[in-house]
Amino acid sequence: MKTLFTKIIEGEIPADFVYKDEHCVAIKDINPKAPSHFLVIPRKPIPSIIELEEQDKELVAHLIFTAQKLAQEHAFEGYKLQFNVGKKGGQEVFHLHLHLLGWK
Ligand code: AMP
Repeated sequence: MKTLFTKIIEGEIPADFVYKDEHCVAIKDINPKAPSHFLVIPRKPIPSIIELEEQDKELVAHLIFTAQKLAQEHAFEGYKLQFNVGKKGGQEVFHLHLHLLGWK
């Protein structure tokens, strides 16, 4: 079964995209917890940080560098990067995503 974020990436569910490349996309969070709140999402549907494998190292680094680039482009003066991990860690969508919460 496709994850919510795979459906968004494939255009089955609408979203407000702020970035796309061959490895990941970034969308605006539907329920922002900061003045700007983006989700950086790998196209590969890894469920969470728990399932990361050695081969995903570059992909995870790419998510962080993408967040850095978006923060620069959107002129955030400060920001937080967050992975919620597991139900008890506040994770609701089991398709890896990096929260970028930004303040100007
Ligand atoms: P998490 O709790 O870390 O799994 O984060 C999931 C995030 O996805 C939450 O901040 C939600 O507000 C956000 N979200 C859920 N559905 C959508 C959607 N259709 N479009 C954009 N963001 C969404």
